[in-house]
Amino acid sequence: MTITVLRLGHRAHRDHRVTTHCALAARAFGADAFVFSGERDSSIILSVNDVVKRWGGPFDITYEFSWRRWLAARKKATIVHLTMYGRELEESIPKIRKIKGDLIIIVGGEKVPREVYELADYNVSVTLQPHSEVASIAVFLDRYFKGKELTKTFHKPELRIVPQDSGKEVEEVKSE
Ligand code: SAM
Repeated sequence: MTITVLRLGHRAHRDHRVTTHCALAARAFGADAFVFSGERDSSIILSVNDVVKRWGGPFDITYEFSWRRWLAARKKATIVHLTMYGRELEESIPKIRKIKGDLIIIVGGEKVPREVYELADYNVSVTLQPHSEVASIAVFLDRYFKGKELTKTFHKPELRIVPQDSGKEVEEVKSE
C-alpha cells in the first residue's frame, strides 16, 4: 500500500516554495511519493531530491503533464481530495484508515476543477476554513498515522540531527 500526494495547478514562478513545501511535508509526514501537475518545473524535483539524498528516503517525486491521464491509470487507488468544502477530517479518517489499497491525496492550487470534487472517493476538510495545501497535507497525514510518522526513520541519510533543547547539532552518518 502506498500513499502519493498529487498537487494540482502548479505555477512555476508563484508556487515554487509552496509546491516544494507540499512535497517536503508529504515526505516528512509519511507519504511515499509526490506528483505535481500544472507548469513543468524541474527545479522542484532537484530541490526535493537533494533533501532526499541528504536526509534519507525512499521518496519519489515526479512531474505529470496530465493529471487526468495519471489518475485514469490508477483506477484501483482510493482518491482523497483535501478541500475546505469536504466532510470533516474526524468523520472521514476512520473510514480512510480501513482502506487496504493505495491512497492518492489530492491538494489543489488557486482553482480546483469541479470534476476533482466529483471523482474523489472522499472530499475531506481539515477545518471548514480556508488555509493552505501544506497545512492540510501535514494535518491529514498526522491524523491518518495517529502521530506515529513523527518518529519515522529514513533510509540511508547522509545527515542526522542530534536533537537538543538549546543549540543546534547535525552529525554526518557514516555509510556501512
Ligand atoms: N477554496 C480552496 C479550497 O477548495 O479549499 C482553497 C484554496 S487553497 C489556496 C489551496 C489548497 O489548499 C486547496 O485546493 C486544498 O487542497 C487546500 N486547503 C485549503 N484549505 C483547506 C481546508 N480547510 N481543508 C482541506 N484542504 C484545504
